[in-house]
Amino acid sequence: MTTYRAPIRDMKFVIDELAGLESLATLPGYEEVNSELTGTVLEEAAKIAGEVLAPLNKLGDERGASLTKQGVVAAEGFGAAYRQFVDNGWNGLGGDPEYGGQGLPGLVAAATVEMWNSSNMSFALCPLLTAGAMEAIKAHASDELKNRYLPKLVSGEWSGTMNLTEPQAGSDLSAVRTKAVPEGDHYRISGQKIFITWGDHDMTENLVHLVLARLPDAPEGTRGISLFLVPKFLVGADGSVAGQNDVTCASIEHKLGIHASPTCVMSFGEKEGAIGYLVGRENEGLAHMFTMMNEARQKVGIQGLGIAEAAYQAARDYAKERVQGRPIGQRSGDRVTIIHHPDVRRMLLTMKSQIEAMRAFGYVLAADIDLAHKHPDAAERQRHQARVDLLTPVLKGWCTELGIEIASMGVQVFGGMGYIEETGAAQYLRDARIATIYEGTTGIQAGDLVGRKLPTDNGGAMAALIEEMRAVEGQLGGADNVDFPAIRESLAAGIQALEQATQWMLQTIGQDPDAAFGASVNYMMLTGYVCGGWQMARAALAAKARLTAGADEDFCRAKIATARFYAEQILPKATALLTAVKSGASTALALEEEQF
Ligand SMILES: Cc1cc2nc3c(=O)[nH]c(=O)nc-3n(C[C@H](O)[C@H](O)[C@H](O)COP(=O)(O)OP(=O)(O)OC[C@H]3O[C@@H](n4cnc5c(N)ncnc54)[C@H](O)[C@@H]3O)c2cc1C
Repeated sequence: MTTYRAPIRDMKFVIDELAGLESLATLPGYEEVNSELTGTVLEEAAKIAGEVLAPLNKLGDERGASLTKQGVVAAEGFGAAYRQFVDNGWNGLGGDPEYGGQGLPGLVAAATVEMWNSSNMSFALCPLLTAGAMEAIKAHASDELKNRYLPKLVSGEWSGTMNLTEPQAGSDLSAVRTKAVPEGDHYRISGQKIFITWGDHDMTENLVHLVLARLPDAPEGTRGISLFLVPKFLVGADGSVAGQNDVTCASIEHKLGIHASPTCVMSFGEKEGAIGYLVGRENEGLAHMFTMMNEARQKVGIQGLGIAEAAYQAARDYAKERVQGRPIGQRSGDRVTIIHHPDVRRMLLTMKSQIEAMRAFGYVLAADIDLAHKHPDAAERQRHQARVDLLTPVLKGWCTELGIEIASMGVQVFGGMGYIEETGAAQYLRDARIATIYEGTTGIQAGDLVGRKLPTDNGGAMAALIEEMRAVEGQLGGADNVDFPAIRESLAAGIQALEQATQWMLQTIGQDPDAAFGASVNYMMLTGYVCGGWQMARAALAAKARLTAGADEDFCRAKIATARFYAEQILPKATALLTAVKSGASTALALEEEQF
C-alpha cells in the first residue's frame, strides 16, 4: 500500500524562490498573500490529499464508478471525500471573490492541483473540469448566466464538464455535428458526445455541461461552432434546481486507468431537445472553448507532474526497504537495500530531477498566468501572456510525456512487484497514460506550438525566453567552481540547441510544413528539456544563496546535486533532439502508405 506525502518543502522553495510569490503579492487583489499564508494553505491541502484522497485511490481503481438507472454513481467513498473537499473551500481556492471564491493566486492553486493529482488523479479531474468551466463562463457568458451558475460552480455544489468530442470529431473539432436550434431565449441541443469526463455522477446536486454544437445555418468547419451551457437539471431564476433537462449518460467506458473518473457517452435531446444557453457569440464557440481548454491544458500538464511525484515517492520508499544483492564487488557480508545499487540511484534521480524541473517550470508558468491577468501595466500583461501562450503546449505535452516515462520507471524500480497490482506502481502508469491523449494529444500540442504559437510574432516570445535563459547562464559563471561549471556548460549547450532548432523551425514552417510538423514533437520536447534545465539552474543558484546565508543545508545541497544530475544526464537530450529536428520529416515520410 503506497502513501503520499506532499513535497511541501520543494513546493514552497519553488513558489518563494523561483516563481516570485513576493512580487505576485504586490498585484491588485493579492495584497494578503505572503509566504506564511501560502505555507498554511499547503499544509492544510497536504492533509486532505494525504489523509482523505490518497487512501481512496486504490479503492477507486478497483471498484470504479458505475452506471445505474438513476445515473452514474461515483466510486465508494468519493462522495464523502468530495463533500469534505468543497466544505473546506478547496474548490474555490483560485475562484473569483465576486462569485464566492477565495481569489488566491493561480500559483498557489497550482501546488494544490499537483497534490490532488498525486493523491488521486481520478478525483482531481472533477474539480479540474469545474475550474475550466468557470473560466469559460466568466470570460464569455452573459451576466445573467454568470450570476446564475458561477457561485455554485465556485463553491463546488455543482460541477462542470467539457463536451467536445464526438465519434467523428476528436482532434479535429471542425467535424462536430451536435445541433442547436434557437427557441426563444434558449436553444434546443441534440446529439451525442463521447468520452466526457465526470459527465454524470451523484457527488453534486447539479452538473453544468459546456457543449460545442452547430446552429442550423452555421457555416462548415470551425467557424460554424457555438458554445452552449446545458445544465443537467434546469435552474430557476432564484438559482433553485428544477426539473431534469433532456440530457443523460448513455454508458460509461471501460478503460486502462482512472477507473474512478467516469468517462461518459452523453446523449443530448433524445426527447424534446436539451435546453441550452448560448455562451458568448454564435459561431465563435471554438475560440470561447479555448479559454476552458487552455486552463485545462495547463492543469493536465501539472497532472503529469503530480502522477510522476506519486510514482517517485512509491519507488523511493520501496527502494529503501527491498533487500536484494550486495554492494558491487562484494561477494559476502550483509545484503543491502536496492537503493544502494548505482543503477537504482540513477533511476531515482532521473525521476526526482525531472519532477523538480517540471514543478519549477509549471509553477513559474502559473505565476506568469497570474501576472498576465493582474499586472497593472498593460505591456507587462501582454509580455507575460505571450510567454503563457508559447509555453502552454510545452507544459501540457512535455510534462505529460514525462509523467508516463517516470511512472514507467517507477514500475522498474519495483521490479516484478511493480508489475503486480497490489503495490500501486502499475496504477500510476495506467493512470498517467491518458494525460498525453486528452486535452489535445501530444501531436496536437506540438502542432499548436510550431504552427501557431511560435510563428505568431515570428519567434519574438521564444527569442525573449532564450534571452532570459542566457542571463541565467551568465549568473552561473560566478557561483562556484564545484557544481556550477557543469551546470553552466550543459545549459549553454541546451540553449544553443533551442536557438538553432527555433531558427530551423521558423524557416521551415513556411517552406516545408510537412517537415516542420514532422519535427514538431521533437522540437516541443527539446523546448521542455531546456526550460527544465533553465529552471533547475535557477534553483541551484537560489539554493547556493540560501546555503551562503546558512539556511536549509540539507535541502540546498540536495537541490544543487539534483540540478547537476539534470544538467549532466537529462539536458543533453536537447542536443540529440536538435539533430532529429533538423532531419525534419524526410525519413518519417520516406515510406509509401503500402510499405507500413
Ligand atoms: C479517458 C478519456 C477522457 C476524456 N475526457 C474528455 C472530456 O471530458 N471531454 C471531451 O470533449 N473529450 C474528452 N476525451 C476525448 C479526448 O480529448 C480525445 O480522445 C482526444 O482529443 C483525441 O481524439 P481521438 O480520440 O478522436 O483521436 P484522433 O483525433 O483520432 O487521433 C488519433 C491519433 O492521430 C493523431 N492525430 C490526429 N489528428 C492529428 C493532426 N492534425 N496532427 C497530428 N496528429 C494527429 C493523434 O495525435 C493521435 O495520435 C477524453 C478521452 C478519454 C480517453
